[in-house]
Amino acid sequence: MTTIENDKVAYVTYTGTFPDTGEVFDSNVGGEPLQFLVGHGNMIQGFEQEMLGASEGDTREFTLTPDNAYGHHRDEAIQDVPRSQFPEEVDVEQALQDEIPLAAYDEHGRPMQFKISAIDGDIVKVDFNHPMAGKTLHFSVNVVSIRDAVPEELEHGHAHGPGGHHH
Ligand code: ZN
Repeated sequence: MTTIENDKVAYVTYTGTFPDTGEVFDSNVGGEPLQFLVGHGNMIQGFEQEMLGASEGDTREFTLTPDNAYGHHRDEAIQDVPRSQFPEEVDVEQALQDEIPLAAYDEHGRPMQFKISAIDGDIVKVDFNHPMAGKTLHFSVNVVSIRDAVPEELEHGHAHGPGGHHH
């Protein structure tokens, strides 16, 4: 029987909740299954670990501490940036008030999301912590189907096709 293991492509539906409040933060139940290539760093580590060995039709429930999910909140990830460094079209007051996520690029050109956590005169406090940092997350995951990855997917390190990666 096919189970979730490295180099398989898994299709799952899931609901993520905060265990302390029961609030749903994400779910794709009733929509397209999430598709991912297992063992290539496409998912948070704890999620994949908990799903290894599951078969089609299985449902797994698990809770991930920040260590196994999005890491801990780090004070170093909050930085003071002079207001003059923001492009003119960015309304920092609005972004603070509406908690609008903004993006910057690191030295490798990778996008980094951040939000503005405070404004003090000409200094804008910018928070690069992942929005899920420091949070314990509960997941209920149903395995819809599992298939072998094709060589091209293994080469690229991600799943292709509907619900997956497009080129
Ligand atoms: Zn690809």
